Amino acid sequence: MNNKYPTAYSGFFMMKQIFKISAITITTLLVSCNSTPPPKETHKETTESSLMVDGKLWSSAYQQNAAEYKALCFQAYNIAKLRLDQALQKDANKALAIITDVDETVLDNSPNSVYQGLQGKGYESESWKNWTAKGTADTLAGSKNFFSYAASRGVTVFYVTNRGEDEVEGTLKNLKDFDFPYADIGHILPKTTTSDKSERREKVLKDYEVVLYIGDNLGDFSHDFDSKPSSERNSNVEKASGQFGNKFIVLPNFNYGGWEKAFYKNSYKWTDAQKDSLIKSTMKSY
Ligand SMILES: [Mg+2]
Repeated sequence: MNNKYPTAYSGFFMMKQIFKISAITITTLLVSCNSTPPPKETHKETTESSLMVDGKLWSSAYQQNAAEYKALCFQAYNIAKLRLDQALQKDANKALAIITDVDETVLDNSPNSVYQGLQGKGYESESWKNWTAKGTADTLAGSKNFFSYAASRGVTVFYVTNRGEDEVEGTLKNLKDFDFPYADIGHILPKTTTSDKSERREKVLKDYEVVLYIGDNLGDFSHDFDSKPSSERNSNVEKASGQFGNKFIVLPNFNYGGWEKAFYKNSYKWTDAQKDSLIKSTMKSY
């Protein structure tokens, strides 16, 4: 036999192995008894599409948890303050104002996306209006301090939003609860007939010098970006590149916006599964 210690060593080795296996089994049982149970499945699959549901849940998870999202919001409002201070040093013929969007610029609506996503649904206007009527959305990092500062320096704030007139009450309640300045009927311009904000911006420009435009959607800055294909939106951004971080302050929104509508050729006729295919058809791989 090749084994130098045939009988004694084999017996010892066998006992050692039995002990080892028993220890592993006991440890496994103990760990499985003490560990947190796996989370319950909450996602009901009611559509073939995944981007319309999972994509929005994923971006909402980012919006609600990523410190990077918060940092981007602070970054936007820090730049806004810098530009406002510079504007305040210049002579102006009119009173100064800021035009700001509301959704994903001042208020965080990700809970509505999560509410919908957990039911296997994307955006629905009825659910959206139920949400905005509550007036309980949280605010984006840095937004309250910035607008309060602007108001303290004598700069008027106008909320130009594509929420409807029937959503004004809930919106003002929400803004007032967080002590946002100018949260009153004279300073909110909701959507009436069109989501194009040009006319509402012009209305403010009649009496004010607008020093900053703040928004998450390029349509918050110029009609050049409204209902355009992605290629045109991108080339118009190139043309306006010098405005970003100067006159135009952009907040991040990976959940929805003009960029998403561009995937659907700015049409509402598609099913979720068709929307999924349209998005995937634009994506590059290797
Ligand atoms: Mg918005």
